[in-house]
Amino acid sequence: MGTNQDGHYAEVGSGCQIKHLVHELRESRQWTLPSLGFITEQTIAGAISTGTHGSGKHSLSHYVRSVRLATYDADTGQAVTTVVDAGDELRAARCSLGTLGVILSVTLEVRDTYLVEEQFRHYSKLEDVLATESTFPLQQFYLVPWKWTFVAQQRRETNRKPSRLAWLYHLYRLIVFDVLMHLLILLITRPLFPSACTRCAFKWVIPACVIPQWPIVADSSKQLVMQHELFHHIEMELFVQRSKLQDATDYLINALTTMGSPHVKSKSNLQRPELKLNPAPAFAQLQGQYCHHYPICIRKVECDDTLISMSCASDDASNPKESWYSITLTNLHRGIHRESFMKMMPILTHEFSTKFNARTHWGKLFGMSGSQLASVYPKLQKFITIRQSFDPTERFSNGWTKDCFTDDKNLPRSTTLPKK
Ligand SMILES: Cc1cc2nc3c(=O)[nH]c(=O)nc-3n(C[C@H](O)[C@H](O)[C@H](O)COP(=O)(O)OP(=O)(O)OC[C@H]3O[C@@H](n4cnc5c(N)ncnc54)[C@H](O)[C@@H]3O)c2cc1C
Repeated sequence: MGTNQDGHYAEVGSGCQIKHLVHELRESRQWTLPSLGFITEQTIAGAISTGTHGSGKHSLSHYVRSVRLATYDADTGQAVTTVVDAGDELRAARCSLGTLGVILSVTLEVRDTYLVEEQFRHYSKLEDVLATESTFPLQQFYLVPWKWTFVAQQRRETNRKPSRLAWLYHLYRLIVFDVLMHLLILLITRPLFPSACTRCAFKWVIPACVIPQWPIVADSSKQLVMQHELFHHIEMELFVQRSKLQDATDYLINALTTMGSPHVKSKSNLQRPELKLNPAPAFAQLQGQYCHHYPICIRKVECDDTLISMSCASDDASNPKESWYSITLTNLHRGIHRESFMKMMPILTHEFSTKFNARTHWGKLFGMSGSQLASVYPKLQKFITIRQSFDPTERFSNGWTKDCFTDDKNLPRSTTLPKK
C-alpha cells in the first residue's frame, strides 16, 4: 500500500476476497475501494476479470493500475512472470477473463473511506428517476415487475454524521428485502400458485414494504453492499447506454408482459415499429410461460478505460464515453422450472444486442456469440491481438473464450461495421 502523485494504491494477491481487502484497507489506513457491487465475496482477480461493478462509478477493472501475470513460455515450457502496467496491454489485462495468463496480484487505485447517505423513493417514470441522478450520483433503482414503476435506492457521498439508527435501517433492509422478500418469491413461484399471485405480490405487497424517504448515513461498505448471495439464483445482466435506456426499458416491459400472460395487453409506451417484439418462433413459444418474479435492478456504470469490460467505450462516434446502465434479471427458480428463463435469456440477449447494441455481463449468464461480440465491442480485435501475444498456444483459453476471442469468428472487424 502507498500513495503517489496519482493517489492511494494497494497491491492485492489475486485470490484475496473483496471483503477481506475492504477490511484490511480500513483497519490499516482508513482506505477503501472506489466502487463496490451487491456482494463482496468475489476474489479480486475474478472481479476485475469480468468487469464487476457497483452503481454510479466505473467497474473495478477501470481502477487497476497494474497486473502481475504468470504466462506460459511454449519454447521452454516454463512460467514467466510479467508486470503489465501501461498502454493497451494494461487496458486488456484490466478485464481479460483469465485469457492472458494467471493473475498473481493486482495493484488497484483505492481511496479514503467515505460515508454514503441512502434513502428509498418511488417513481412512476424512468425520466423522473434519471433526473435525480445529479443529486444522488451513486443511486441504483429497481423496475418493479407487474407494477412497472420504479423504486430508487438514492445514494450520495456525504459529510454528514453517521446516523444513530443506521443499525436499524440495515436490519430492516436485511430482514425485509434480503430475506423475507426472497422467501415470499420462493413461495409464490411454486407450481401450485398461479402466476397471478406473483403479479399481485409485485403490485401490492413488495412495493408496500419500502419505507420511502428515511435517509440514513453510514460507511460506504455497509450502505453499498447487500446480502444478495443468501438465496441461490441465476442472473443475466444487459448493458445499454444512457441514450438507449428508455427504449430498452420499454422493450423489456413489453417482452416480460407478453411472456407473463398471453391475455395481458402490453402496457408499454412503444410507438416505434422497430421496437415491436421479435416474432421469432422461439419467442412465440414462450408467450404466457414466463412470469418474471424479481425486481429488475438498474445501475449506472461510468465508461471504463478498458478494451472489453461491459462498460468500456462504444463505437458511437458522437458520444463514445456515454455512461452504461446495467439491467439485471434475476431468477430464483430451480431445476426444470428454470427452463423458460433459460429459453428467454438468449432471445432477449439477441434482441437487446441488435436493437440497442447491448452487452451482457462476462461473469453472469452470457448468451452472446463470438460473432455478436464484434459488433458491440469496438476494441475486441485489439484485445484478441494482445491475447494472442500473451498466450499464442491458447493454454489459458477454454471452449467459450475461444469462441469469444478467436480471430476468424469476429469478422467483419468492428471498425468496418456500419454504425447502428
Ligand atoms: C451473488 C452474486 C452477486 C453478484 N453481484 C455482482 C454485482 O453487484 N456486480 C457485478 O458486476 N457482478 C456481480 N456478480 C458477478 C461476479 O462479480 C462475477 O461473476 C465474478 O467474476 C465472480 O468472482 P469470482 O472470484 O467468483 O471469480 P470466478 O468466477 O472464479 O472467475 C471469474 C473469471 O475470472 C478469471 N479469474 C479468476 N481468478 C483468476 C486468476 N488468478 N488469474 C486469471 N484469471 C482469473 C476466471 O478465469 C474467470 O474467467 C455477482 C455474482 C454473484 C454470485
